[in-house]
Amino acid sequence: MKVVAATGNAHKLREMREILTGAHILSAAEAGFAGDVEETGATFLENALIKARAVMRATGLAALADDSGLCVEALGGAPGVYSARYSGGDDAQNRALLLANLQGVKERRAYFACAIALVFPDGRELTAEGRAYGEILTEERGAGGFGYDCLFYSEELNKSFAEASEAEKNAVSHRGRALRQLEAML
Ligand code: IMP
Repeated sequence: MKVVAATGNAHKLREMREILTGAHILSAAEAGFAGDVEETGATFLENALIKARAVMRATGLAALADDSGLCVEALGGAPGVYSARYSGGDDAQNRALLLANLQGVKERRAYFACAIALVFPDGRELTAEGRAYGEILTEERGAGGFGYDCLFYSEELNKSFAEASEAEKNAVSHRGRALRQLEAML
């Protein structure tokens, strides 16, 4: 199956390809899509659908979108759908703001959430969601992964996502869970 990934995030694309091994996943650039889709939804699922529909319409190909983020209980679920835009800066600035907002906070439970949408040119739409639970560390640990990985201690792996191998992370991650659910539907 040939699909185009509705993302400009190279890390997400890499994980999509590692997890959905049965699909031929083109990058948005390879499919000739250079635009930026505004994420106006209130939920991960709404945003995933917005991105997948926009890229499917622009390319005429089936489009696969991921919308994901980190939800921290002590912060009322923040940064949530604003995870990429939390500080207004880059990933390192987002992590610094998260640590600052959790300074002195003992209850650090959090989960990563991922919504996946696969939208076909004939109008069919498939969606799936996945979560990974853990805690926010008090300092960065590990050099792998991206985004908030080095601050997220996975309760299943007993290490941070940035300390895990790609295979270990994909086995328990929000994205791995959502994509495997989608694969089962297909
Ligand atoms: P969006 O889905 O493109 O709006 O952005 C998701 C944001 O959530 C990313 O920029 C990351 O900061 C964060 N995020 C999502 N998934 C992961 C992950 O697997 N590891 C680390 N950070 C993630």
